[in-house]
Amino acid sequence: MTNLLNISRRKLLQIGISTAACCVTAPALAAIPHIKGIRNLAFHNLHTDEKLRVSYWKDGTYDRRALAQINHILRDHYSGDVTSMSPRLIDLLYDLQRKVNNDRPVEIISGYRSPQTNLILARASDGVAKNSYHTRGMALDIRMTGTSLPKIHNTALAMRRGGVGYYPDSQFVHVDVGPLRRW
Ligand SMILES: [Zn+2]
Repeated sequence: MTNLLNISRRKLLQIGISTAACCVTAPALAAIPHIKGIRNLAFHNLHTDEKLRVSYWKDGTYDRRALAQINHILRDHYSGDVTSMSPRLIDLLYDLQRKVNNDRPVEIISGYRSPQTNLILARASDGVAKNSYHTRGMALDIRMTGTSLPKIHNTALAMRRGGVGYYPDSQFVHVDVGPLRRW
């Protein structure tokens, strides 16, 4: 089996259709190594004090139940409204944590904000955008125990996956999967 896995796809194609169609080689080809694995994430919502640890992705497939749990802990804690958070945002968070080598719960300052909640916050603070990506389930305000804020900030910037905002006075970094921008 190991030898079969070591044979390159090109080689298998050279061997011909009879080999590729064989009951042993076909599953070997189907199992693409780079999409194998499990992605775990842990959250701590600082407003509600809720905690969650989930495997949200396995072997190339998102776990719908885990995503629903993530949607719940990232809900608008003012109104209770829940939305479907962007899986790209969840992947960004996962990759960011791996890059800074931190597997502790991500501390959530703000996740989803309903348009009504966002409007109220925008009126009260200059730091809240009127058309925030928080209202689309595409943004998070985070920090991580064990990783400095500048390190989170610089790593998020280097990843170039969307918007990054730095709020040292409030001790959080905003990340979103909207267009590439920084502030
Ligand atoms: Zn934000």
